[in-house]
Amino acid sequence: MKYPSALLENAVNELATLPGVGRKTALRLALYMLRRDPSYTENFARALVELRQEVKYCRICHNICDEDMCSICANPNRDHSLVCVVENIKEVMAIENTGQFKGVYHVLGGIISPMDGIGPNDLEIDSLVERVASGEIKEVILALSTTMEGDTTNFFIYRKLSPYSIQISVIARGVSIGDEIEYADEVTLGRSILNRTSFNDSIKL
Ligand SMILES: [Zn+2]
Repeated sequence: MKYPSALLENAVNELATLPGVGRKTALRLALYMLRRDPSYTENFARALVELRQEVKYCRICHNICDEDMCSICANPNRDHSLVCVVENIKEVMAIENTGQFKGVYHVLGGIISPMDGIGPNDLEIDSLVERVASGEIKEVILALSTTMEGDTTNFFIYRKLSPYSIQISVIARGVSIGDEIEYADEVTLGRSILNRTSFNDSIKL
């Protein structure tokens, strides 16, 4: 497509790099911004720049936050002996939405995926082992995708944590979670955490 302005083309190129945004949508968005007040695009751009530059990750669970520690880890009313291991921040948000989990989290930052070149060292697995080794944790709940990568990661973590005398459980399968926890409805997701089973039993099946 021929653009009447290099500035417009530049903006379209950038917008089109967003997931799920094709060039047609990118053009529509760019033209929309042109129609709005200049302060709109300034606020829009500032929010993104500040997000990228100033966001912090909790030093304990690696959840996203604005301080050194997230509000969940800092909350004395949460059960700090119960840790739910998830892939990403989206899953923390989904589980928090259920209002059914009173423990704390550990965000891995992904799952083991050799196809995508993601190995255990690219994830927050060592820091999970350190948390368990520090002795405060009684149970670790694995709440990863029900995919081959999720299973591989579960097993890897299970092996790493097996020297410690803690309970390792896995969220209930059988309830249809699909491969993306974030899409499970709140009731199903809440139930799958409450009905978790021992990981030991799950690998014997
Ligand atoms: Zn935290």
